[in-house]
Amino acid sequence: MIPYSCQSISEDDIAAVTRVLRSDFLTQGPEVPAFEAAVASYCGVRYATAVSNGTAALHLACLAMGLGPGDRLWTSAISFAASANCARYCGAEVDFVDIDPATGNLSINALEQKLARAEKEGCLPRIVVPVHLAGLSCDMEAIRALADRYGFFVLEDASHALGATYLDQPVGCCRWSHAAVFSFHAVKMITTGEGGMVVTNDEAIHAKCARLRTHGITRDASEMHDVPHGSWYYEQVELGWNYRLTDIQAALGTSQMKRLPDFLAARRRLAARYDELLSELPVQLPARTKTSESSWHLYVIRVDFDAPEMTQRAFYDSLRADGIGVQLHYIPIPMHPYYRRLGFRMEDYPEAMKYYRQAVSLPLHQRLTDEAQDLVVEKVARLLRR
Ligand SMILES: *Cc1c(COP(=O)(O)O)cnc(C)c1O
Repeated sequence: MIPYSCQSISEDDIAAVTRVLRSDFLTQGPEVPAFEAAVASYCGVRYATAVSNGTAALHLACLAMGLGPGDRLWTSAISFAASANCARYCGAEVDFVDIDPATGNLSINALEQKLARAEKEGCLPRIVVPVHLAGLSCDMEAIRALADRYGFFVLEDASHALGATYLDQPVGCCRWSHAAVFSFHAVKMITTGEGGMVVTNDEAIHAKCARLRTHGITRDASEMHDVPHGSWYYEQVELGWNYRLTDIQAALGTSQMKRLPDFLAARRRLAARYDELLSELPVQLPARTKTSESSWHLYVIRVDFDAPEMTQRAFYDSLRADGIGVQLHYIPIPMHPYYRRLGFRMEDYPEAMKYYRQAVSLPLHQRLTDEAQDLVVEKVARLLRR
């Protein structure tokens, strides 16, 4: 099977991990701060907190923005469930914004209208989570302008977008947001197996994330309630979690960061090659925008399955039977039974629904060869030309 995405592990990556296994620290040693510094420096952002996965990063960022019962978090109707689940962990309500059919990212128009309505009804969100779907940045200038007008926090779900740019700035620089999160799951831009990070320029958000990552415990005397009893002393000042990343993982992450420019170059070249090879077929190619250069985490085409004599299901089944690991990113979050039980209805998200009936992620990753890509295109073309 040619997977839609997969990791690339080099001998240097393996050596980095082995070095930690032979060292004094498997966790809470020097590797985590080094990995945080590498990502922060790449993104041009002040602070970074590495955590056990991207979902934990979203959870901590929400808590650091004060999200709790009675509050609301809004995100895109098309994303991985974690973009919304983070609010539920905090006891907050979730709501969804329909997507822009051109990019698959949350629609600025829909967001604007929903905010105007929410203001009248007194139910504005505390946090809006724009998701840079497939690695293409949302319109962050517009979102930030709305945030300033309506007073919400902007938390970027940049799980797909490490290495992408927006207005020539790296995604994660947080110039238009209060914080951004990355995921280092095996299929993402770089990997630590499982892993995630919160980046921010806000010292308070950073301090809170760092504390909540390890039980709400502080060793910083300035954060303590009592005068330290001695050199052993630490205080748990609030309820946190164990969301730490290990040094083993962080060393892999730092090594992968060195390879990120190569990963991006490979993905960009393959994406341009797909654009060309698919140009004659009846498919909508992934959007390109003037403001963002995608990281190309995913290559999502859209097929009007109502038109040709080929159903969405038959298309997927046929490609998978031929060893092409196509995937659908994503099932609209409000469509999941858990969210349906909370009262969400797909009629309220017509563009997300339409997207769901058309989207196909073709294999795209740094180990995909031109020959394998040709095979993907050949199989797709044969099905669509029928
Ligand atoms: C992968 C992903 C996450 C969650 O990351 P994990 O590291 O798997 O917890 C969140 N949001 C989006 C959009 C993702 O793709």
